[in-house]
Amino acid sequence: MVTALEVVEGIKSGNISCEELLLQIYERIERSELNCFITLNKETAVREAREVDKRREEEEYRRKKLLGVPVAVKDSISTKGIQTTCASKILTGYVPPFDATVVAALKKEGAIIVGKTNMDEFCMGSSTETSYYGPTKNPHDLTRVPGGSSGGSAAAVAAGETILALGSDTGGSIRCPASFCGIVGLKPTYGFVSRYGLIAYANSLEQIGPMASTVTDTALLLEILSAKDDGDSTQLKIQNNAATNYCFSWLNGTGNERAAIKGMTIGVPKEFIEGCSPEVERSVWDALHNYEDLGATYGEISMRNLKYALASYYIIAMSEASSNLARFDGLRYGLRTGKDEDWHTTFSRIRSEGFGEEVKRRIILGTYALSAGYYGKYYLKALKVRTLIKNEFEEALKTYDLLAMPTMPFVAFKLGERIKDPLSLYLADVNTVSVNLAGVPSLSIPCGVSHGLPIGLQLVGKHFEEDELLRAAFVYEQNSS
Ligand code: GLN
Repeated sequence: MVTALEVVEGIKSGNISCEELLLQIYERIERSELNCFITLNKETAVREAREVDKRREEEEYRRKKLLGVPVAVKDSISTKGIQTTCASKILTGYVPPFDATVVAALKKEGAIIVGKTNMDEFCMGSSTETSYYGPTKNPHDLTRVPGGSSGGSAAAVAAGETILALGSDTGGSIRCPASFCGIVGLKPTYGFVSRYGLIAYANSLEQIGPMASTVTDTALLLEILSAKDDGDSTQLKIQNNAATNYCFSWLNGTGNERAAIKGMTIGVPKEFIEGCSPEVERSVWDALHNYEDLGATYGEISMRNLKYALASYYIIAMSEASSNLARFDGLRYGLRTGKDEDWHTTFSRIRSEGFGEEVKRRIILGTYALSAGYYGKYYLKALKVRTLIKNEFEEALKTYDLLAMPTMPFVAFKLGERIKDPLSLYLADVNTVSVNLAGVPSLSIPCGVSHGLPIGLQLVGKHFEEDELLRAAFVYEQNSS
């Protein structure tokens, strides 16, 4: 499959026809058994591709950084005129009247929206099995999950059903599926990318981020996503941030990428490796030895509060979700069933029918954690633990440039294997959720294969130092095979 960078160059030079590329992609999607997409945008996309082919030599088009690149968008991100469901029955038929800021930024740079990708309902899950539209399958083994919740986006990139994809990550939803599908996925620093138009699950934790088959494409997409926006007051307005400068001096061919990591220090928190499957552990140590050969050094560290990360994350995420999801009542848009009765009956019927089991479980648990009498015992305590975890990350990142660990403790599991036991699914998130609690940036890059199933290495950096993550990942990508 071609990379985004090759597509842009190919279209600009006339060696690639945008329309042909797009039709190939749709043909693949239509033949696919993976169920990566909920809604396709074929008619508009093909029309736009023809326009790109016709006008590619015009100055205005030549300046576009993603000219003609097919991008799949997770169904939690609003797209004007294209159904956006968050993989939930309650939003079926909802067509947003506006674009999320990231989608507007993609369009401005000439990207073409392929369609909306499948996901866990309201981003709640790690396997894409809670989708109202049925699960997505892992392209490396159709009997296994692609990870989640951005499973459709990851599987689509891995199977060549798109070139780039957007995901959203509240507790691992970009990195987990990137790891299980063998692609690159980056969760930016909290506050790096505008979330205007992202349907909220847990606001204090989530970010939209890029998913791609190479580190360079990830960087290319990240730059576009970081477009400044007044619509999200939590976005930090850093002008010319380091990440984008670095990516682009690097994309233009300057800088010696091997030398760039000489002297880089990597901390390896042992708690993140304990409990991993042996093949995952082996691949991560191999990657670290590889880094050593390339001029970096690593040291083992301990992060004692990691054991509280899952409890703290799930209490905070569910509490925020219970409040965020209160807005879905089916009265103005989305699902409307039965005849209207009094408000309580109608509201309760629509929500009972419209939300899936996992979403209801979380609304109930979150409401409980926030209720009078339990607020201090659960929610407030979880916030305090969150501060301890954040401090621990900051402390570790004072000593080391980066931290490294497995993204997931094991390779992709079988469809149906964990879905009946929510706790065993939650436990799979142990390495990813702590990063969202701390708000630091992190990416997953393929670092090995076990019985045909990909393994991901998670790199974690300092706030707003996405450039260091990309540099380290790029060097690894170029030197491992
Ligand atoms: N698996 C985690 C959860 O279910 C993370 C999901 C996410 O990042 N959206 O909450």
